[in-house]
Amino acid sequence: MTVVQEDVRSQEELRALAEQAGRDLEDASPLDILKWATATFGSRFCVTSSMEDAVVAHLASRAHPGVDVVFLDTGYHFEETIGTRDAVDAVMDVNVITLTPRQTVAEQDAEYGPKLHDRDPDLCCALRKVKPLEDGLGAYDAWATGLRRDESPTRANTPVVGWDEKRRKVKVSPIARWTQDDVDAYVVEHGVLTNPLLMDGYASVGCAPCTRRVLEGEDARAGRWAGRGKTECGLHG
Ligand code: SF4
Repeated sequence: MTVVQEDVRSQEELRALAEQAGRDLEDASPLDILKWATATFGSRFCVTSSMEDAVVAHLASRAHPGVDVVFLDTGYHFEETIGTRDAVDAVMDVNVITLTPRQTVAEQDAEYGPKLHDRDPDLCCALRKVKPLEDGLGAYDAWATGLRRDESPTRANTPVVGWDEKRRKVKVSPIARWTQDDVDAYVVEHGVLTNPLLMDGYASVGCAPCTRRVLEGEDARAGRWAGRGKTECGLHG
C-alpha cells in the first residue's frame, strides 16, 4: 500500500480526530468515509474482515487500491470462510494479512482442555481473537470494520468514525448506517465476493463451533453463541 501520510499523531490527537470525523462524516457515503480514512492515515489504516462478505474490503479498495485487509484466522473457521479469504486475496486489489493466535487449537486443547469454546467462550475468544487482533493492529492508527447499526441492539449506536478506547485507535465503521438491503444491493451491483454460507441459512458467520443458522424473525447475530448468553467476542464490546 502506498504511504499517503507519515504523520506521527499522539493518542489525544487521534481521539480528537475521531470525534470530529464522527460528527462531520455521519451523513457521508461509505466510500467517502473510506477515502477520508485512507487519505488521513495512509499505511497506518487497515480494514478488518471476518470474510462473511468482502463489502468493506471492496469499498476500501476503491478508496485506496492495495489497502491492507486483516483477517483473523482463529483455527475454528468454516472451510467456506477460508475459501472466501483466499478468493478475496486472489481477485481483489487488496493486501490480505492473516493473523493467527499464539497457540494452535491443539496447543490450546493441551493447556486448557478440549472445547474451551463450550466451557469458557470468553476466554477462548480472548485467546483466539482479542489478543491476536490487538497485537496485529499495533502497526495501525485506525481500523475499519463492517459493523452495522441494524445488526443487533448492541450495535445500534455504532458511530461511522469513533474512538476505540480499548485499543486506543480510531475505529471506522463506514457501513454503520447501511441496512442488510443496502449491503445486498452493493453486492449485486459490484459482484462482490460473499461467504457461501450466507446462502445456506447463516446470517452472520463466525467460528464453526459457535455459529448456527438463524431462524425466521431472528436478528442477524442470533446464530452466534446461541444459548450461551454471549453476543460479542470482545473485538467490538
Ligand atoms: Fe473460540 Fe467460539 Fe470465540 Fe471462536 S467464536 S474464538 S471458537 S469461543
